[in-house]
Order: sequence, then C-alpha cells, then structure tokens
Amino acid sequence: AVRLRGITKSFGSNLVVEPLDLEIGRNEFFSILGPSGCGKTTLMRMITGFETPSGGSVELDGKTVDRVPTRQRDLNMLFQSYALFPHLSVYENVAFELRVRKTAKAELDTRVREALALVRLEDFAKRKPSELSGGQRQRVALARAVVGRPAVVLLDEPLGALDQKLRKEMQFELKRLQKEVGITFIYVTHDQEEALTMSDRIAVMSHGRVLQVASPTEIYDAPISKFVAGFIGSCN
Ligand code: ATP
Repeated sequence: AVRLRGITKSFGSNLVVEPLDLEIGRNEFFSILGPSGCGKTTLMRMITGFETPSGGSVELDGKTVDRVPTRQRDLNMLFQSYALFPHLSVYENVAFELRVRKTAKAELDTRVREALALVRLEDFAKRKPSELSGGQRQRVALARAVVGRPAVVLLDEPLGALDQKLRKEMQFELKRLQKEVGITFIYVTHDQEEALTMSDRIAVMSHGRVLQVASPTEIYDAPISKFVAGFIGSCN
C-alpha cells in the first residue's frame, strides 16, 4: 500500500531521517518504534505530505504522490492531540469530512452509523464531546479517521494520553478495525510492549536510521544490534 524510496529529511544541517527504503503491505499493522527524537513523526509527516522530503519519493497504491496535497492522498491521521469540534455532536464530528466532500445524504448517514458502530458509540451520536469520557472521545476521533474508508490510517502515539485500561481497550479496537475493515495502519509509538503485541511488522528507529524491520517475534528473538536488543528488552 505504501512504498518509500530513498526518502530522507534534513532540517538545515541536521539529518533527521536518513535515506530509507520501505514497503508497507495492504492491511498491514506496521509500527514505527523508537525513542523520543529519533525521527518517527518526521517520517510519518512525509507520508502524509505535511513535510516535504529532502530526497526520495512516496508511493501510495503504486502511484507517486510527491506532488499530491495531503487532502487528496488516500489516507487519514489520528494524533494524540486530536481535536473534536466542541459545538458539534458526536454524529456531526464524524460526519464532518463527508459533508465537506459533499457525500450524498443517505450514504453519509450509513457511513457515519457504521463508523460509530465500529467504535461502539452508536448510542452516543447525539452527545457533545464534553459529555463523553476521554476514552469515548478518543473513539470518536478514531471513527472520524476511518469514516472515509481511507486505504491508510496513520496514528502518532494515539493512546499516549489514556490510562492503562483504556489503552488496552483501544488497542483491541484498532486490531479489530484492521481485521474487519481492512485498513493499513502505520502506528508510531515509543512503547515497546504496544508495538510487540499489535504489529504485523515493526521498524525500529534510532537517530534517524531504521535499524531493523521485522515481525515482533523476529525482533524479540533475533534483534539485529545491541541497541535493538536493549530497547526491546526494556519492555516489561
Ligand atoms: P517524539 O517521540 O518525541 O515525538 P520523534 O521520534 O517523533 O520524537 P521527530 O519529531 O521526528 O522525532 O523529530 C526528529 C528530530 O527532528 C528532532 O531532533 C527534532 O528536534 C527535529 N525536528 C523535527 N521537526 C523539525 C523542524 N520543523 N525544524 C527543525 N528540526 C525539527
């Protein structure tokens, strides 16, 4: 679904992402794992088009999107600091993107209800964000990210603000969505356990370099370097 060819980013003389080739398959749950400041977010922002690469190119479903603006790329994002519209109902928050795209009324209604059902918030359609718990709000944001059925959903530490119980719940929801809806998830985290339990494959990053791309068991059983071993091993 996503192919990166020699993608790289510098800010001035600071090389933040070293030239990187990477292929992420359709419906794959792909995590980018690494300590703070290693370049994870910058890599994601180049895939979404928020950041222009200093070199290399991004392909989505076989097409180079280097000149395609973010809103025309078949993807959506969910961040830790997601913002819902406080004055709109849960329903309207989820419907927003479809209204902007002038989706026909009947189809819009079907899609919004489906998205709310996926995150088990059918009964909360009329509520305002202020009348929801933190976890419920996060689920609204997730429904909003998938309502347009994008091929790829990028999540940047989406569960960082949640307590342990809600984190587990949301991890479960995300895996269920991946299986039931068939979405490619690119998931940025610095939480080793989260990456190991959720991913089909993980890319371990350090200082702008991808050190290893492999399945959780491979990374756990056969880490390619001391750094990877230490970083993965620190998860308990
Ligand atoms: P975290 O887990 O803390 O979010 P990260 O792995 O996502 O970290 P990035 O946000 O990609 O890391 O940042 C990588 C490096 O690039 C950092 O050293 C950061 O200071 C630098 N950087 C990011 N954005 C810019 C920018 N717009 N201008 C200059 N430097 C930047």
